[in-house]
Amino acid sequence: MGMSRACQGCCSVNGCDIRRQQAVEPISCGDPPRVRMEKQISMVRFDQVSKIYERGGDTIIGLDQVSVEVGKGDFCAFIGPSGCGKSTLLNLVGGLDVPTSGDIILGGHSTSRFTSNEWTRIRRETVGIVFQAFHLIPGLTAAENVAFPLLLRGERGVSVQARVEEVLELVSMTARRHHRPSELSGGEQQRVAIARAIVHRPQIILADEPTGNLDSQHGAEIITLLRSLVQRFRQTVLLVTHSTEAAGAADYVWSMKDGRLLTRTQHEPVTVVA
Ligand code: ADP
Ligand code: MG
Repeated sequence: MGMSRACQGCCSVNGCDIRRQQAVEPISCGDPPRVRMEKQISMVRFDQVSKIYERGGDTIIGLDQVSVEVGKGDFCAFIGPSGCGKSTLLNLVGGLDVPTSGDIILGGHSTSRFTSNEWTRIRRETVGIVFQAFHLIPGLTAAENVAFPLLLRGERGVSVQARVEEVLELVSMTARRHHRPSELSGGEQQRVAIARAIVHRPQIILADEPTGNLDSQHGAEIITLLRSLVQRFRQTVLLVTHSTEAAGAADYVWSMKDGRLLTRTQHEPVTVVA
């Protein structure tokens, strides 16, 4: 009790009962910045997760017995060369694919027995995904693209419009709300894609090489935007990238190789109160 010790980086890995001190931004305009003491809550946990692909008699290892934990409100980056399993890892978190073995625990719930309906619900409610190639719907305006996840959830009317305006404002795209994707720059398209990913207030944002199609300045702006979401709304961000610059904004970075996690680098000092 009362003893302070340096975090060994184990708290997100082994689920130990270490508390960390975290600066939290003002919740509404005018509030003074606050510092909150809170227990690390697990958002995503991988227990010995492997993903093996079988293609024409070949066996390809996507992920190889990965165990890792990401806490609620963390901004975690996974970095590694092409083919090391980064997208595989994110796809498994988002239920776009299922593990060959092992278990993924989302918000305390094992996903191993999830039905496809339960995965659909998780994707619509809990997860927001941002892709390298934006994947906006070409025939829809920016605002219509952002509204899409809410329409899928059966939401209609003025509350949808109000929420769409709110998130377009958050990503500084209000002035371009009636533009179609082809009328937007790459950086602007990615801002709209982020707005679409957060419009339903997901707990987890999965970003797969979100700066891969952007120049360094626009890439840096996208990373700053993701960082601000974590701070303002306490969303959990899993970013995969091969850019050390992009990964530099994360709280911590896991390096990956050949479907495995290698090392974890902590970026911000952590104050631990036992
Ligand atoms: P990264 O995103 O780090 O570039 P991926 O996760 O896409 O890597 O891929 C990891 C490995 O799994 C690669 O060898 C890749 O070729 C293989 N892989 C990924 N998806 C599939 C698939 N659907 N079928 C077969 N092999 C795949
Ligand atoms: Mg990839």
